[in-house]
Amino acid sequence: MNGIKLSDAHTHIGSEQELSMRCDSKILSLVCASEPSEAEMLLSRPHSCIIPTAGIHPWHAGDLSLDEMVKWLSVFPVIGEIGMDSVWCNTPLPIQRKIFCSQLELAAQQKKPVILHTKGQEKEIASIIREYPGRYLVHWYSCSDYLEKYLDLDCYFSIGPDVWWNPAVRAVAKKAPLNRILIETDGMSAVKWAYEEAPDMPDSVRIPETPADSLYETLLTIAKIRHLSPKDAGLLFYRNLNDGFLAAL
Ligand SMILES: [Zn+2]
Repeated sequence: MNGIKLSDAHTHIGSEQELSMRCDSKILSLVCASEPSEAEMLLSRPHSCIIPTAGIHPWHAGDLSLDEMVKWLSVFPVIGEIGMDSVWCNTPLPIQRKIFCSQLELAAQQKKPVILHTKGQEKEIASIIREYPGRYLVHWYSCSDYLEKYLDLDCYFSIGPDVWWNPAVRAVAKKAPLNRILIETDGMSAVKWAYEEAPDMPDSVRIPETPADSLYETLLTIAKIRHLSPKDAGLLFYRNLNDGFLAAL
């Protein structure tokens, strides 16, 4: 892994140890605060590798108001993760849509890039964001349909840790323009989940235990798919994040 630049375009705070490992490994990480206490925690421990992002996650659409989070959406440079979810969330979609759109409105006003959660609502979200032109990162896209809609919108894509086995995630790694590809962990608990979901996990595969291990594995898989050297892939994904998605709007 030596000499390979690592970046994590979407993650959550996780444990204190996980945050420290990111900083020790110098992984440029977009760390998401989904509620005020998480935002306060991120603000209390600034680090050059941590870019804080804030947003009401669709799973919180029924219990957090925009008023409670608006301060953090205004302070942090990126808005997200926000979106809609009809697979892992029971909150009625009209409630999710209202919170989602009010945050999109804010992102447009404040000219901030947005991280999207699209689970089960891929078609709907592609049509909603057309009304709020801006810069979007589609996090861990794993739907086998509608990818073209997001490609048309020139979105960024952060590719998740199941790219080694999940055909829908591999399709994103194959089809996204090279200057729109990013990598992510979504946090180490999501990494563990993604490996355990693999239908046939070969004995040779081990669940990564650190953000650096997971990002490196994801990077190697995409590098192979796109015929890049690991070193070039690391640099490319880092630049796509730092000089692309995070550049001033
Ligand atoms: Zn997430």
